[in-house]
Amino acid sequence: MIILTSCASATATSEETGPTPTAVIAGATATRPAADAEHGAQPKPTIAPFRFALPTPGAEPVSGWRPPLYPVPWAVSSYDHFYFARPIAADNVNWPLAEYRYGGVFFAPNVVHTGVDIDAEEGTPILATGPGTVVSADWGLFTEVAGNITDPYGQAVVLRHDFGYKGQTLYTVYAHMSEIIAVVGQHVKTGDVLGLVGDTGITTGPHLHFEIRLGGNTFFNTYNPELWMAPPQGWGVLVGRLTDEDGKLMNQFLVEVRPMPSEVPLRKVLTYAVGAANSDPYYQENLVLSDLPAGLYKIAFEYKDKNLQFWADIYPGQVTYFTFTDEDGFTVLPPPVPTLDFLPGTATVVP
Ligand SMILES: [Zn+2]
Repeated sequence: MIILTSCASATATSEETGPTPTAVIAGATATRPAADAEHGAQPKPTIAPFRFALPTPGAEPVSGWRPPLYPVPWAVSSYDHFYFARPIAADNVNWPLAEYRYGGVFFAPNVVHTGVDIDAEEGTPILATGPGTVVSADWGLFTEVAGNITDPYGQAVVLRHDFGYKGQTLYTVYAHMSEIIAVVGQHVKTGDVLGLVGDTGITTGPHLHFEIRLGGNTFFNTYNPELWMAPPQGWGVLVGRLTDEDGKLMNQFLVEVRPMPSEVPLRKVLTYAVGAANSDPYYQENLVLSDLPAGLYKIAFEYKDKNLQFWADIYPGQVTYFTFTDEDGFTVLPPPVPTLDFLPGTATVVP
């Protein structure tokens, strides 16, 4: 979780107060996401939400401008859930740092990044990404010891949102604040200031650590914020599920994503660390790359000493989903419609 600093400029409208989404996914009223079904009863990592150094995938191309966001809630398909605006306003960088995406385990095994980091200067206002109630505003979120100034999250605010998803409660987390402005019990609207960017807790510099939590206010309940924050208008999101010859999700596997023709630099993204991240209940993904201008992209990586590649279109405001399997290679098809198997039931978290 954590860390880092510095980038470019501007973008989207984070401040609109859109209508409140309601859980509308037909037939699914789960009590707990089946996100980890793929990993079965696999042990949850002992999550420590922070780390200190730089992982491998190189820098994200940073442009100085991005279009305004789609209004929230934004859902082109019935399985989309871009319910949240961005926690940093449009006059600052408000997209995730490329090197610290969700689901990375960059240092020790079992130290996982449970959110995204957004680079921002100390003192930048941190905005509520949706309407909700402040349920926590203090030091001590990780250690659950109020006032603990050694807590890795530093000063953090948690919102319980007015809306949920599939019958489950949604929370957002804003960490490392230099100053907390919101107070517990306060009801906030989208765009209300919750606090200021800082580097409290374990960080290497001022930034915002942002999490989406579904079904419970713990770091075991996190999902990839890049599937929850509205895209810039005209831009889309690449989502992939990559599995090996054993049908297992590929671990921290480096994938290159290059626009065609390449007006924009190559982007690199790692698949989630196996067992360390929750996949979306529908997509069951292990790779997400958001904020891609619509157009044709080449997705490429090395697999078993071969350079594999395929092309996929990114559409405005939409998710482009692909799978890779050892047997069938690349496929660009939506996931199967969830069946009852998709409903939870087995997931029990034992911290
Ligand atoms: Zn972080």
